[in-house]
Amino acid sequence: MKTNFLKKKLGILGGGQLGKMLINVARKWSIQTYILDPNPDCPASKCCDLFFNGDFNSYEDVYNFGKKVDIITIEIEHVNVKALYRLEDEGVAVYPSPSNIELIQNKGVQKDFFKKNNIPTSNYKRFDNKKNLSKHISRIESSYPFIWKSETMGYDGKGVKLIKSLSDLDEINENSCVTEEVVDIKHELAVLVARNNSGESKSFPVLEMEFNQKSNQVEYVILPSRISKKINLKSLKIADLVSKSLNHIGLIAVELFCTHNDDILVNEIAPRVHNSGHLTIESCITSQFEQHIRAIYDLPLGSANQILPGVMVNLVGENNHNGEAFYHNIDKAFDLDGVFPHLYGKKITKPNRKMGHITIIDEKLEKAISKARVLKNKIKIIST
Ligand code: ADP
Repeated sequence: MKTNFLKKKLGILGGGQLGKMLINVARKWSIQTYILDPNPDCPASKCCDLFFNGDFNSYEDVYNFGKKVDIITIEIEHVNVKALYRLEDEGVAVYPSPSNIELIQNKGVQKDFFKKNNIPTSNYKRFDNKKNLSKHISRIESSYPFIWKSETMGYDGKGVKLIKSLSDLDEINENSCVTEEVVDIKHELAVLVARNNSGESKSFPVLEMEFNQKSNQVEYVILPSRISKKINLKSLKIADLVSKSLNHIGLIAVELFCTHNDDILVNEIAPRVHNSGHLTIESCITSQFEQHIRAIYDLPLGSANQILPGVMVNLVGENNHNGEAFYHNIDKAFDLDGVFPHLYGKKITKPNRKMGHITIIDEKLEKAISKARVLKNKIKIIST
């Protein structure tokens, strides 16, 4: 039996809501948690044992922080990988591995990884910069529409654009980029897979995501997904292939597209706990956050089975509201049975900023969905 394993200090790069929810699990087992974040008011700063004010993109800050802990994990993938390689060399356990974080930081490298490992994904091309992309377009007739993605530093749909004509290129940055065929999407799905150091692996049931068309952000997550058994099995199998090919430790989110022909394509991977898995806190036997901590502490993984159907609604800042946040009508969420509001404690709201979420569980999925839609329309995050 491993002794004192829960005495190992956990360092988390990033102190957002994902960090906060990880800490809630660590607290249960009295694991000491340290957070590194540039914002002293970040959601996790008030609940960790020690908060370090610093930049998770800085070599120095990450290295110095990492020397204070035994295990280091992330809640955001845009972190300084060089420092993590050195920490790993010096005996700190880093999960996910620096090489997997590096792979995921670049969407083009990610696509090449899918191709190399026979993981189905949309057809794509990589370009070193915008100039080379423009040259390529001028050589080819009828190349529109296509999806443009900045290779680095894009998240929540911010580095993604549907390009319908030459003029749309005015709005993209100069970065290296990937262009992808536009997928005929029927469903957007996600599978969360956890793996521990002993090689045990478990997947949560397939999650269905509904996007807000304007912001390109997830608005609702639904479990169980409204898909056939065949698509379900296919999705789980492909996510397992991704997990095995990465040989990761911890939890990863595999984001999938299901096409109108029922093909499953991998869109991208997040090597961490994920917005699509928030409802596992109330809807599943083990939450994604607990599963990640079990995996990185090399504990047996918990059951990922679902207890009751669930829906998660993201609460994001309303358009045209910038300033101190006010949760208009949040009391309506507390009035209902099976409704669990989570407020991240961010002081300032901005358009589309993730400020909280609500999970609704019910014996009947349809009832949970309709409650979720009512609450989404009533609750607004505005500035005072
Ligand atoms: P981010 O990492 O910023 O979340 P994604 O690569 O997940 O960006 O893309 C955001 C959204 O854009 C996806 O959820 C999907 O709705 C849409 N999208 C991305 N790639 C494609 C594609 N090849 N075809 C059609 N839609 C796409």
